[in-house]
Amino acid sequence: MSFFKQKKKITSKSPSWKITKECLDLIFECAKSNFPHEFGGLLRVDDTKKDTITEIVLIPGTISGESHAIFQMHMRPIDFQIVGTVHSHPAPFATPSEADLALFGKYGKIHIIAALPYSGKSWKAYDTYGKECSIEIV
Ligand code: ZN
Repeated sequence: MSFFKQKKKITSKSPSWKITKECLDLIFECAKSNFPHEFGGLLRVDDTKKDTITEIVLIPGTISGESHAIFQMHMRPIDFQIVGTVHSHPAPFATPSEADLALFGKYGKIHIIAALPYSGKSWKAYDTYGKECSIEIV
């Protein structure tokens, strides 16, 4: 929210994101079932409420590695309701890596990283610039 940190592009227009409890639980489930590998997917919003993330979409060919989930972005579906990415870290830190920041900058507006233990508050959301932002659980 800091005015001084704003980049050239207008960020004040970005919506206040929401995510359903069910979707967040699903993210945790996927993260748990892929542990100790990372899992990666895309975030999709509701048909009517465009600021509410309700679904995760798995990209065909996404490689879950021990160090990093490699997104095959050319395999992503053409879907304007996809707003960003989600992936898990098999560590208790939801801090974006260099590769994560590059991905955030290239694709989508909102990005979630789920860290161990994949429950409660062990996740964080970031914008295109890698700035932490909040998502309301609905
Ligand atoms: Zn990462």
